[in-house]
Amino acid sequence: KSGPDSADVERPTLTFADIGGMETVKEEIRMKIIHPLKNPQLFKAYGKKIGGGVLLYGPPGCGKTLLSRATAGEIKANFLSIGIHQILDLYLGNSEKNLHQLFELARTHAPAVLFFDEVDALAADRNDLKRSAGRTLINQFLAEMDGNVGSNDGLLILGATNAPWHLDPAFRRPGRFDRILFVPPPDEPARASIIEVMARDKPMHKLDSAAVAKKTKDFSGADLKAVFDIAIERSLARAMQENRVIPLGTDDLLKSAKDVKPSTKAW
Ligand code: ATP
Repeated sequence: KSGPDSADVERPTLTFADIGGMETVKEEIRMKIIHPLKNPQLFKAYGKKIGGGVLLYGPPGCGKTLLSRATAGEIKANFLSIGIHQILDLYLGNSEKNLHQLFELARTHAPAVLFFDEVDALAADRNDLKRSAGRTLINQFLAEMDGNVGSNDGLLILGATNAPWHLDPAFRRPGRFDRILFVPPPDEPARASIIEVMARDKPMHKLDSAAVAKKTKDFSGADLKAVFDIAIERSLARAMQENRVIPLGTDDLLKSAKDVKPSTKAW
């Protein structure tokens, strides 16, 4: 693939209701980007700045990408997602041009949420990047964020990182990633609500989400998804033998949970 094109543009139907837990983060996103986008005059009248970017940070698998996609869904905006490594690798040699193309693509599809995963890979250390691409790519990125090379009206820029403290301070200036939100590992009530969300479209005969939440300490959202995946695989194997749907129960999930290693202990 030579560069970003309209095939990369999504129109998510996912909303905040599809994400378990994260009440605080959802409220912050509503206040910081959704309300300002919907009521620009009102926010300006109070001297509130609109635009700029939001950086999400927290342990892997806890919903940063999901939350960004659902933010687009909440405001019925388009969604473009790209990992910094994709820009660096796939588009190597043409990184600046393709980064510009990506921003242009988002601009022509405004209102749009432009989501950059692994922002630290770009901004971590200017010396880390290949000399030829590094500096100019960073400058290009900052110029695009500042709206110097095209209007960013109706464009929301979200970034995700596991390590915000490695970020080059230039990225934190006003109008750039000037707001940082922590996306925490889910606590017990949040896990219960994630489990309920995940159970919605699955055949279940009984679900004690609190009991599963209790037994899944330090599990990320992605870990919980793995628990479901394992339980479903087992149930499917039996279902095929018996040629009937065998709904999942609390016990199936508890059993699968034993086979998944929690990934957020260090947080
Ligand atoms: P990474 O840092 O590894 O990119 P991330 O924080 O962006 O991780 P996501 O990719 O958003 O994590 O989450 C991985 C998967 O875990 C999601 O696709 C979803 O299935 C599930 N998941 C995570 N958090 C939640 C949640 N709060 N509610 C429902 N599902 C969740």
